[in-house]
Parts: sequence; structure tokens; C-alpha cells
Amino acid sequence: KIQDLMSSSSERIVVSVRLRPLNSKELARNDVSDWECINDNTIIYKNSLFERSPYPTGYTFDKVFWNDCPTEQVYEEAAKEVALSVVSGINSSIFAYGQTSSGKTYTMSGVTECAVSDIYDHIQEHKERAFVLKFSAMEIYNEAVRDLLSADGTPLRLLDDPERGTVVDRLIEETVIDQDHLHELLSLCATQRQIGETCLNENSSRSHQILRLTIESSTREYLGKDNSSTLTASVDFVDLAGSERASQALSAGTRLKEGCHINRSLLTLGTVIRKLSKGKTGHVPYRDSKLTRILQSSLGGNARTAIICTISPARGHVEQTRNTLSFANCAK
Ligand code: ADP
Ligand code: MG
Repeated sequence: KIQDLMSSSSERIVVSVRLRPLNSKELARNDVSDWECINDNTIIYKNSLFERSPYPTGYTFDKVFWNDCPTEQVYEEAAKEVALSVVSGINSSIFAYGQTSSGKTYTMSGVTECAVSDIYDHIQEHKERAFVLKFSAMEIYNEAVRDLLSADGTPLRLLDDPERGTVVDRLIEETVIDQDHLHELLSLCATQRQIGETCLNENSSRSHQILRLTIESSTREYLGKDNSSTLTASVDFVDLAGSERASQALSAGTRLKEGCHINRSLLTLGTVIRKLSKGKTGHVPYRDSKLTRILQSSLGGNARTAIICTISPARGHVEQTRNTLSFANCAK
């Protein structure tokens, strides 16, 4: 039965890995790659110098994407189904997880574009229904939540709503007029995040970005009225802080504080995803970080999740790549 499939843990969380190409800096210093994809699901480490390492040689996931794979294909095979569940009233989230410079932003921005285009195709094909789209965007930096649709950088509070769960107080929720409007909002967020980056010194490696699209639909005559044909759900596109922030021991002052907080959000997310992927009932520590509180409704329950782990091929990055693959292994 479809319901059983949707609720089984293996179907609820799709885990994939995307390897980026070596970049010009890496090529310039003669860095090389020891990773090889032996099929669509398996990546292996083939350097014999490292044979005595305690790590496994190969890792298997729902999908492994080689360095020449276009983002459209990554989207089709690793995220599309999860993204489109939102139009059937099922919450979902799509994550990019990986070290800084591994391709998280590159992947998430492309995946978001593809999803938006598919969602609008769906709307075109279902003229019998009326759709209302709402968009909001936030960034979590140092456990402070900031609205990416507002120039005002005041931290926002999280409130517990008895019906809706955790809500971000005063977060702007923009009603989307059409696809062009949504593109404008997306580029506004990208700009806001870049401004933050310049001010806060590599902000993007330390902050989590969440773009949330909420879709309500109903047969035309009932729109806005509470009735059984109404479907409401959200899809969250999450560009996580660099995963090195979860493992790096940072020293002194603000760096330590920032490190600790990001550590907390990423570690909590890891714990939450591990618990969910094992299908265990019992306590899931959503409340231990702002990130997991905000994402609770798009992670738990019958929500669908796609985790795209991005990795660098460079030999110089092998340790962080191992960490990312271990995270991915625990999530599947
Ligand atoms: P992150 O967000 O993880 O720090 P970025 O997405 O900014 O990393 O990627 C770092 C650089 O590598 C960017 O210049 C980006 O365009 C490039 N890049 C990342 N992934 C790919 C890819 N799959 N193919 C080509 N270039 C990529
Ligand atoms: Mg980035």
C-alpha cells in the first residue's frame, strides 16, 4: 500500500551523495582525487596509501552523483519526489550537508530552482484547483534567527503555538504572486545572505539558511473555506552551515562561542535524523536547537526528507569527506 511505503523510514528519508569536480585552486596545487563511483549507488576510496585506515573502502547510498552530473539530474533522482509531496499536502525538507566549499549552495540553489519550476508546472496542470503560495526565509547564525526578507537584522523569537507547533515570531510570510515573483524573492535572499557574509566574515560557512514554501490548495469553489478538499503543507530548502563546524575544535573568544552553537545545531540535527532514520519511536530531541525546532514539522510525522551530502574530491579534504560520508551513512 502506498501509505505503508510512505511511512516506512527507508522511504521517508532519501540520502544521496554528490561529488563536485576538482576546482582550479586544487588543480593548481596538483591535488588529486582518490574517490571513484563504481555504480549509481556506491562510492569507493581507491588510494592504497590509506589502506590501513579504520574507515570502510566503500559506501552505498540511495544515489551517488559523479562530478559531471548536472544539478537537474541530482534534483530528478534525489529530491523531486520529496519536493513535490508538498502539493499533496505532505510536509517535506531538502538539505545540503557538507564541508565548506563542497557545493552545498551550488546544489541547493539549483535544486530549489528545479523544484519551483516543477511546482508551477503542477499548478498549470491542475486548473481545477486553486493554489496559494507563501514564502519565508531565515538564517540561523550563532543560534539567532534572522529574517532574510527583511533588512532589519533583529533576532526573531521562537514561540510554541498549540496548533502549529514552533513558529518564528514576526517572520515575514510573503504571498507569492507568480513564478517571477518567487524568483525575485529567492534572489533577494541570496543577496541578503551575501551581505551577511561580508559583514560577519565567512558567515555562510557558519549559518544555516532555511527557505520555506508553503502551499495551500483547494478545489476552486472552496478556496479559503475550511473543507476536506483543502491541502496545506510546506517544503523547506535547507543550506546547512559547513559540517566542519560540527567537528572542528575552535579556540578562544567568539570563535569558540560560534563553534559551540553551530556544533549544537548540527549535532542535534544529526541526532534527530539518526533517530528518525532508524524509525525508532521515543524521544527525538527536536527542542535541543533552534534549527531542529524550526524544522520539526518538515522532519517528523509523515514528512519526507531528502539529504544531499556534498563532498570534495580533493585528497586534501579526505578527512572531512569521511566525516560527511559517515553522517550520510547514519542518516540512511
Ligand atoms: P558551499 O556552499 O558548500 O560552501 P559552494 O556551493 O559555494 O560550496 O561551492 C564552492 C565552489 O565550487 C563554487 O564556486 C561552486 O560554483 C563550485 N561548485 C560546487 N559544486 C559544483 C559542481 N557540482 N559542479 C561545478 N562547480 C561546483
Ligand atoms: Mg555555501
